[in-house]
Amino acid sequence: ETVVVTGASGYIAAHVCDQFLKRGLGVVGTVRSADKGAYLASLWKKYGDKFRYVVVPDMQVEGCFDEAASGCQGFIHVASPFFTENVTDPMAQLVEPALKGTRNALTAAQKAGCKRVVLTSSFAAVYRGSQPLPYLFTERDWNTDSKPEDGGDDSYMASKTLAEKSAWEFVKASNVGFDLVTMNPPLVVGPAIHNASLTSLNTSLEMVHRYVSGHYAPDTIPKGGMGFVHVVDLAIAHVLAYTTPSASNNRFLISDGVYSWQQVCDMIRAEYPALRDVVPVGKPREYPILEAIDNTKSKTELGMSYRGMKAILKESVDQFLTMKGTG
Ligand code: NDP
Repeated sequence: ETVVVTGASGYIAAHVCDQFLKRGLGVVGTVRSADKGAYLASLWKKYGDKFRYVVVPDMQVEGCFDEAASGCQGFIHVASPFFTENVTDPMAQLVEPALKGTRNALTAAQKAGCKRVVLTSSFAAVYRGSQPLPYLFTERDWNTDSKPEDGGDDSYMASKTLAEKSAWEFVKASNVGFDLVTMNPPLVVGPAIHNASLTSLNTSLEMVHRYVSGHYAPDTIPKGGMGFVHVVDLAIAHVLAYTTPSASNNRFLISDGVYSWQQVCDMIRAEYPALRDVVPVGKPREYPILEAIDNTKSKTELGMSYRGMKAILKESVDQFLTMKGTG
């Protein structure tokens, strides 16, 4: 049994490939360049021909995933642009690639006769900033706030919302021959296994890295917070979403818990005395009311368990220190 994983050289997708390979499935990873593919092939040498890659330079080209999907039973669509800074043309940089990539993924899955598509959507497709708090977000919620043309965070969040919506419309519109499961994680953190360095961190790791790298002045008061999930837990969730028959046509919030950035700073300062001068002090133990994220469905229907915020932060910060050469 073999699955396609799109954007295999990305932070989350590399872990998704890794978890499928660990369970004995074959993986065809799509990558944007042969160099990125070669890096992964060497990472997974021990799996022999169970891992191979196909170069897809532009996922907006119609039919681009057809070759990769041919002969595969599952399609795991992870690739999507994820950045919120330097967005000058939100439609061209974020929204169009997300939508066209999703359409090309679903079309390829259909042509190949795949039985299930797992789509890496996001909590961004669920969350509404306008929602009065306290509030518990569930899989029934949709982001109805974000406008694609607004730039930055909003355009990214809209790109994820529109892409997920288009996928549900695609499977409802006709008898496509496969079912769909979406993963809706909040901020994904934990060790990177793809080819990453401190100057090329993906957006979610960079958000945490900024608290330990002097990006914020020591007297900054960290505002707000996020839901967090460990990248390996999310990768395992993708496998369970693929292998659990009853997951069919469901969304799943894959979240460990919600933490304020103040709480994150407090935890890092407690764990790493050497970083005390770098991590903002803020107002220790003063935590705002934040949204809550219901992960019950992931536990009862997929059998998920979560490794906790301490592990999420420790494994990330340890890796940042190693990358810096001081770990
Ligand atoms: P990365 O930036 O590491 O991965 C993004 C992946 O998409 C990469 O493989 C990248 O290819 C590929 N990609 C981006 N833009 C394009 C494009 N225009 N055409 C083709 N491929 C493209 O980020 P993550 O691993 O964090 O994100 C992976 C997925 O998870 C995305 O769908 C994201 O929205 C979603 N997600 C991430 C969260 C997080 O906190 N990290 C939270 C919730 C959802 P390349 O490697 O060549 O750059």
